[in-house]
Amino acid sequence: MATNSLQRDERAGSGAPDGERPPPRSVTGPHPGYDRYGRLDHYYYRCERCGLESTDAALTERCWRCDDDEEES
Ligand SMILES: [Zn+2]
Repeated sequence: MATNSLQRDERAGSGAPDGERPPPRSVTGPHPGYDRYGRLDHYYYRCERCGLESTDAALTERCWRCDDDEEES
């Protein structure tokens, strides 16, 4: 699936680094997802606008839920 080699150091709560802004769509990720044992299980993306989370990297291009919500074409 969408496992690209993009690796980012994400530290929760440490504040956003300067010079790096979130994309207009406000889709963040990939965030590491862990299984019940605390092991890295998958990566997911999250739309900060509507809260949709998906392992599908297509979310970074376009949030289908937001697109559903409001049509601006
Ligand atoms: Zn959304």
